[in-house]
Amino acid sequence: MSSTSSYYSTPPCAACKFLRRKCLPSCVFAPYFPPEEPIKFTTVHKVFGASNVSKLLNEIQPHQREDAVNSLAYEAEARLKDPVYGCVGAISVLQRQVIRLQKELDATNADLMRYTNYEQANNNQIMENHQERSNFQYGRRMVPSYYSSARNNDISGDHNNISTDNCDGDS
Ligand SMILES: [Zn+2]
Repeated sequence: MSSTSSYYSTPPCAACKFLRRKCLPSCVFAPYFPPEEPIKFTTVHKVFGASNVSKLLNEIQPHQREDAVNSLAYEAEARLKDPVYGCVGAISVLQRQVIRLQKELDATNADLMRYTNYEQANNNQIMENHQERSNFQYGRRMVPSYYSSARNNDISGDHNNISTDNCDGDS
């Protein structure tokens, strides 16, 4: 009777329930295979075997056991889905993706470099053209200003002459 109430208060872990054995307080599976997740244990057991998992958990530090169980569950699930490659299949897909993305990145960087060099050359050309145009404009401005000032002088000279003439005429 008391054993029945103890059974209900602490249900066996998923491993002990599956293996039909008494789940002791020292059970190495209990913290990582709760009774609410029976599939987690059956998957790991199917691929690695309960005794191998128990042995592995006893060989590693207690703080590493949760990560170990989670990685075993991941690997076991991948192996059941892909009996040939397991999680190596997923790793290969990701490695190919990394290689493809690295090539894309290299090509994009090369394009960027070419574009930057082209822009730089273009800017230099624009600067040179601008320089030439400034010189040209400066020269043009110089020449007409010389001419215009000369013409203004002529005009003012004429005007002065006219004024002088007019003045002379008036006086
Ligand atoms: Zn147990």
